[in-house]
Amino acid sequence: MQEVIEKFIGLQKMEDEIGAFAKIIEDGPRRISQSLEAWETAKGEHDESALALEAARKRLRELELDLLKFKELATGNKVRMTKVTDDKSYRAILSEADKIRQRVSEAENETLSLMAEEERLRGILPEAETRMLEAQKAHLALEKETLAAVAVAEAEAASRRKAIEETLAGIDPALAGQYSTSSRIHDGRTMAPVRDGTCGACRMRIPPQLFNELQTNEKLMLCPNCARLMYWLDHPAWAPPAPPEEPEETKKPKGKAPKRAKKPRSSAGA
Ligand SMILES: [Zn+2]
Repeated sequence: MQEVIEKFIGLQKMEDEIGAFAKIIEDGPRRISQSLEAWETAKGEHDESALALEAARKRLRELELDLLKFKELATGNKVRMTKVTDDKSYRAILSEADKIRQRVSEAENETLSLMAEEERLRGILPEAETRMLEAQKAHLALEKETLAAVAVAEAEAASRRKAIEETLAGIDPALAGQYSTSSRIHDGRTMAPVRDGTCGACRMRIPPQLFNELQTNEKLMLCPNCARLMYWLDHPAWAPPAPPEEPEETKKPKGKAPKRAKKPRSSAGA
C-alpha cells in the first residue's frame, strides 16, 4: 500500500504541475490582449494627433486662399469706388468693404490660432509615434513569448496527463478509481499530507486513533473533514535525505513502516 500511496503522491505532484501550466495557458490570451490594448491606445493617440495636424494644415491652406480671394475682392472694390457716381452705390461699396475687412480679420485670427495648434501638434507627434512604435514592439515580443510559453505549458500538461493515465493503469483498478474519483471531486487536489495530526489540505485535526492508523501507511484513508486521501508526511521512508553533516543518519529504514506510530525520527521537517 505504501508503494501505491507513493505513486499517488507522485500523481498529485503532476496534478499540481498541470494546475500551474493551466494558469500559464489561461493567462496567455489575457496578457496578449492587454498589451494589444496598450498598443491600440498608443496608436489611437498618435493617429488622432496626426489627423488633427493634417486637418489644421488643410484648413490653413484654405484660409490662405480665402485671404488671397479677399485681397482681390478688396482691390476690385477700390476700383469700383473710383467709378461710383451715386450715393447709394457708394454706401453699398463701403458696406462691402467693411464686410471684406471683417472676413479678413476673422481669417487672420483663425490662421494665427491654427498656426499655434499646428506647431503644438508637430511637437507632440514624434513622441506619440515613438510611443506607438514601442508599444507595437513590446506587444509583438510579448505575444511571441507568451504563445511560446503557452505551447510549452500545453505540451508539458499533456505529457503529465499521459503519465498520470499510465501510472493509474499500472495500479489496482479499484485504488486507481478511488484516486480518479477523488481527483474529480477535489479538482485535482486529491492528496492531503498530514503532519502532527493535522490535515494539510483542510487544516483540521484528525482524531488521534485515526492518526495512529494513518502512520502505518497501510491503507487508504480519507480525511474525515475534507474527504481527501491522507498520507503521513513525516513517514521515515519519505523523509528528505538528511543533510551531509550526519552521514549515518542517511541510512533510513526502507520498506515496512513500524506498526505503531512513533514520533518521526527524522528532524528534517521542512
Ligand atoms: Zn482534510
